[in-house]
Amino acid sequence: MIIAIDGPAASGKGTIARRLAAHYGLPHLDTGLLYRATAATLIAEGRDLYDEESAVSAARGLGLTDFNETTLRSRQMAEAASVVAAMPGVRAALIEAQRAFAARPGGAVLDGRDIGTVICPNATVKIFVTASAAARAQRRVVELANRSEKADYNAILADILRRDARDSERAAAPLRPADDAVQVDTTHLGIESAVAEALRIVEAARIRA
Ligand code: C5P
Repeated sequence: MIIAIDGPAASGKGTIARRLAAHYGLPHLDTGLLYRATAATLIAEGRDLYDEESAVSAARGLGLTDFNETTLRSRQMAEAASVVAAMPGVRAALIEAQRAFAARPGGAVLDGRDIGTVICPNATVKIFVTASAAARAQRRVVELANRSEKADYNAILADILRRDARDSERAAAPLRPADDAVQVDTTHLGIESAVAEALRIVEAARIRA
């Protein structure tokens, strides 16, 4: 069973993906880390983030064990990731590894922006997780505050809106729900209700498959 979870930043897709993976005993790939690690490589090597040739070679040479997860998950790296993620060459360099992960025996859970549309168009089930930008910004503020990091709501909301626009308006694999994705709006859902809703969707798809 392949479970494809897509959606914008802080929609809850990562938590839902992790919880579904644990529930079904499936491996989970957070594909955003691949783009974050590509950007982190360029930054660490002092190369130009906007140079597609360098970005493609960084994506091809990626070794995920070389990175500190706190660095990858920072706000700056999210922004940088969305710059390299708009480059068709970078996306092409990362497709094969993602498809190989999805093809593991027994299946897998992948979350990102283009899993249902490009990486796994034949996934058993596709869920597109959304929430209002205000709710997503508020979640990020709480998350950062829990890590004792500075969290200015307006700055975070601006980050989220800029990233949404870049991810949705790019020509290469833009963020959008697949035609056969089921949408879950988590604006007014706590995490337990969102996970329960996702589980219902997966169970319904399993019965149909
Ligand atoms: O999901 P996460 O916030 O870690 O993703 C960081 C950035 O990587 C996104 O804003 C997006 O530009 C890019 N991304 C993507 N396709 C994916 C996963 C992430 O373009 N499948």
